[in-house]
Amino acid sequence: MSDVPVLVAGGGPIGLAMACELRRHGVAFRAVERAAQRTDLSKALVIWPRTLELLRLAGCADDFTAVGRPTREAQLRANGRLIAEISFAGIATPYPYALFIPQSETERLLEEHLQRLGGRLERTIELTSFEPGPNSVVCTLSHADGRTEQVTCDYLVACDGAHSVVRHGLKLDFAGETEPVAFMLGDVKLDGAVEDKLQLYWHREGVLGIFPMQRGRFRVIADLGPAIEAPQEATLDLIQSALDRRGPGGVRAYDPVWLSLFRINDRKVADYRHGRVFLTGDAAHIHSPAGGQGMNTGIQDAFNLAWKLALTIKGKTGDRLLVTYSPERSAVGDMVLRNAARLTRLATLHQPAAQWLRNQIAASVMRFAAARRVFARTMTELDIRYPRSALSQGRPSKRLRPGDRAPDAAATVDGQRRQLFDVLNRDGFTLLAVGAAEAPSAVELAARFMPWVKAITASAEGEMNARYGAGLYVIRPDWYVGFIGRADQYGKAERYLATWLRS
Ligand SMILES: Cc1cc2nc3c(=O)[nH]c(=O)nc-3n(C[C@H](O)[C@H](O)[C@H](O)COP(=O)(O)OP(=O)(O)OC[C@H]3O[C@@H](n4cnc5c(N)ncnc54)[C@H](O)[C@@H]3O)c2cc1C
Repeated sequence: MSDVPVLVAGGGPIGLAMACELRRHGVAFRAVERAAQRTDLSKALVIWPRTLELLRLAGCADDFTAVGRPTREAQLRANGRLIAEISFAGIATPYPYALFIPQSETERLLEEHLQRLGGRLERTIELTSFEPGPNSVVCTLSHADGRTEQVTCDYLVACDGAHSVVRHGLKLDFAGETEPVAFMLGDVKLDGAVEDKLQLYWHREGVLGIFPMQRGRFRVIADLGPAIEAPQEATLDLIQSALDRRGPGGVRAYDPVWLSLFRINDRKVADYRHGRVFLTGDAAHIHSPAGGQGMNTGIQDAFNLAWKLALTIKGKTGDRLLVTYSPERSAVGDMVLRNAARLTRLATLHQPAAQWLRNQIAASVMRFAAARRVFARTMTELDIRYPRSALSQGRPSKRLRPGDRAPDAAATVDGQRRQLFDVLNRDGFTLLAVGAAEAPSAVELAARFMPWVKAITASAEGEMNARYGAGLYVIRPDWYVGFIGRADQYGKAERYLATWLRS
């Protein structure tokens, strides 16, 4: 007999997202965090649109958009020449921008959301060891006053960051490498004509990135190329020198709140699940901050896992649902690692001939709107999909394939104009009938799986036609498309739902 269904180890952004989602799905848990206080460092600066869509599903996206700074454009310059301007503005999402917000704020907003939901993060408690068994996991928790406590849980979720006690405890290989180039960063104020855009400068000495923060602050990142001697620590002078040599010129950096040197590790575990133990976030994957994907990918790990744990713990499904977590998220982790490493290596080429070739190719490719669109969609994580998952079944529709993200669209639902994201089920599956001749069948079918399935019937017109097309869709609780069938294939939709839900 366990003390609690889930123990969440670690209360960084991923542990907090995990706790919020478990709470929202009505799962009892304990979430423990070693540190007495939240980080005051800005670390992960950007929240991408897909994460904002999921925060909307969680009920807290407005908190983030009220505080963060939306940035709709990115610019890439090579040796001073503008070679690419990428706009997020035209992307079909309610959040067509990169939202700049320091990680300290992200953690604050998630913790406040958790408290509003009636949950809490228990601070100054550390998971020191654990014993995984076939039916439970016995965890040892150490309190700040020296007391230790044993907690038996059904599932342990590791959100304990890059140096994960859980990963070490399982003796998992964190396979990968440390990039040879070191970087420095400064969160500073800048005087001068600095555009409010995400700006990258490829310079013969190395790369420089300028990212807008709040209240006139910017993050400046530069690699320590051959022209800069390897220093002991990052200084304002070094940041200024990188700005002068590689950047826009005429810009003065002052009032630093964070200066740091860092090296990049590209590492990942092969499997995110080991029996009753799950790994998420930096405990499972770490990589270059190029592309700003680390925290976003981790938060999405949490959204993927939370509903699966909830349905399993409530006895509504078998273990086969939890089996899908690792293949789905590990494939995403592989892709994110690959892309981030590629971006970093391109940006830090130091051979003049290789730089010349890179600049020529990038300038030619980025002339095409289609290439800029692909780049923007990759950054925004809106293209993340699970095509090979056991949860992705059926046939492609006009616009979507099983496993794709369920996009928002203006829809006519039961004769009323609605945004799809406002009516999609936030607690379970949605059976979405688009242009179906026999709409009542959707309601009857959903009723068989009450309260886990909600039926929505929408006309196949306008954005619904353009983004979905006529057909029968089962949308997963994390707003990915699980099943697609023809508008009359209720039998197939029922078999799909019965596979994943006990009626
Ligand atoms: C300079 C920099 C820039 C970055 N920029 C971006 C960006 O723009 N976009 C992006 O998406 N990502 C970015 N990242 C990455 C991002 O910061 C991480 O991916 C993110 O913090 C991972 O969150 P996490 O919750 O998995 O781990 P962490 O943030 O490390 O949190 C783990 C938590 O677990 C606690 N803990 C550890 N062990 C235990 C234990 N045994 N028991 C209890 N508690 C424990 C720790 O105290 C900590 O609070 C950046 C990182 C850096 C360093």
